[in-house]
Amino acid sequence: MTALTFTTVRELRLHLNAQRARGTIVSAVPTMGALHEGHLSLIREAATRGNEVVVSIFVNPTQFGPGEDFERYPRTLEADSRLAEAAGATTIFAPPVGEMYPKGEQTRVTVGGMSEGLCGAERPGHFQGVATVVTKLFHVIGEGIYCFGRKDYQQLKVIERMAIDLLFPVEVVGCPIIREADGLAMSSRNAYLSVQERGQAVAIVRALQSCLDSFRRENHAVGALEQQVREELSSAGLEVEYAEIRDASTLARLESSKPVSGKGVLAVAARLGRTRLIDNVLLASGTQDLLPQKKGERS
Ligand code: AMP
Repeated sequence: MTALTFTTVRELRLHLNAQRARGTIVSAVPTMGALHEGHLSLIREAATRGNEVVVSIFVNPTQFGPGEDFERYPRTLEADSRLAEAAGATTIFAPPVGEMYPKGEQTRVTVGGMSEGLCGAERPGHFQGVATVVTKLFHVIGEGIYCFGRKDYQQLKVIERMAIDLLFPVEVVGCPIIREADGLAMSSRNAYLSVQERGQAVAIVRALQSCLDSFRRENHAVGALEQQVREELSSAGLEVEYAEIRDASTLARLESSKPVSGKGVLAVAARLGRTRLIDNVLLASGTQDLLPQKKGERS
């Protein structure tokens, strides 16, 4: 079946209201397009949870800061629509900016503590832009099950918090990070990397894996683990923005001199030239290796 494409809020609402009247369950995957296997895994997950699978494709201007890559962000709607449809999307929502931000708009949604620090500190206003556009999508697409990737871990936590706080009739589902064969987390921004940078980028997942190894081996202090990650990234030629271990549920800071207590998350942001990459790993007993173990390596 060919997916339907809508570009206006009104038409999408009419369509989804008619579907709901027939008892259809709506699931949704918000994206900025340039779809890759990470996005497609979310669409497949959404297709197991709803019969009407809405994929939104919208490069949201308010989550980009001045001097960031809003203008050059890849826009590949035709290819995206084909990929989304093959993964199980039944409806594509691809609105122009003026549809999501009506003329004269003045409203923003702000989530507190959780959106400060980490990417929030490096990209002021970013999570306000994310919370604002996701609020709009929750209103337009309405009640349903929404799949987000754990790749953007802080974003997922901010959205979960906001959905609870603002009483949205939605279920937020966090989905696993999909990686390239060498372990690099898939991202639309990987396309910006030169061949040399692409080679260096794998240092991120290696640093996450060696932190996970150290965490498993001994009760290392949070600060020592963070320092180990920063050093690994810097020595591979990456510019570290942050490498922090936080409480995995609340994103609260952990005591630097103590071992990780409860479930932690190591979140990393690093730059390679003009490209900013993020990744994370849960420091918890059930966490699987990010890289295949080679015999004789990493005890
Ligand atoms: P974006 O298009 O970058 O805004 O991402 C749209 C959704 O896809 C977000 O929920 C991301 O967390 C998710 N996503 C992006 N990359 C990956 C990945 N490698 N694995 C899993 N989910 C991803």
